[in-house]
Amino acid sequence: MAKIAVLALQGAFAEHEQMLRQMGVDTFQVRNLSDWNQPKDGLIIPGGESTTQLKLLKELGLYEPVQKEISDGLPVFGTCAGLILLSYMTMHIKVVRNAYGRQLGSFYTDAPMKGVGEHIPMTFIRAPYIGQVDEDVDVLAEVDGHIVAARQGHQLVTAFHPELNDDQRVHRYFLKIVESTL
Ligand code: GLN
Repeated sequence: MAKIAVLALQGAFAEHEQMLRQMGVDTFQVRNLSDWNQPKDGLIIPGGESTTQLKLLKELGLYEPVQKEISDGLPVFGTCAGLILLSYMTMHIKVVRNAYGRQLGSFYTDAPMKGVGEHIPMTFIRAPYIGQVDEDVDVLAEVDGHIVAARQGHQLVTAFHPELNDDQRVHRYFLKIVESTL
């Protein structure tokens, strides 16, 4: 069975763990380098505050090891702030932070997501969007003409928070990516 590491420095990591547990998936928290060095088949980087998470990743000596394993093919799923961090680390995307008008607060909508399904619940909280992608990046969803989900190889990102709704389809999609590497 797949074992998924959840970066637990700051933000909405508990909701991802809960979602994974409901799906019967084995998971553990990453708070330091020795956590990180445990065997794992995938990683989730949660939403929260990307500036804080980036600072902690660097202070704890996690930034480079995490970046390297992702570059070497470890499947990763980044939501919101996690998307922002992956745009710094490994993904060929340009991100616009805290950007769209009605998202200054938060809002909920649903939209289709390629490979995942129709009417995917999307909760946005001071979210970024993806302004530009390179050719190796597949756009999976758009809202208001902005890219809100994308995939580059084994790397999946959403600007919204699928862990805050009961719908498991986005997490299942990520697990399929993980299982394809086992
Ligand atoms: N605005 C936050 C940031 O820039 C992201 C918000 C979120 O993760 N919900 O890090």
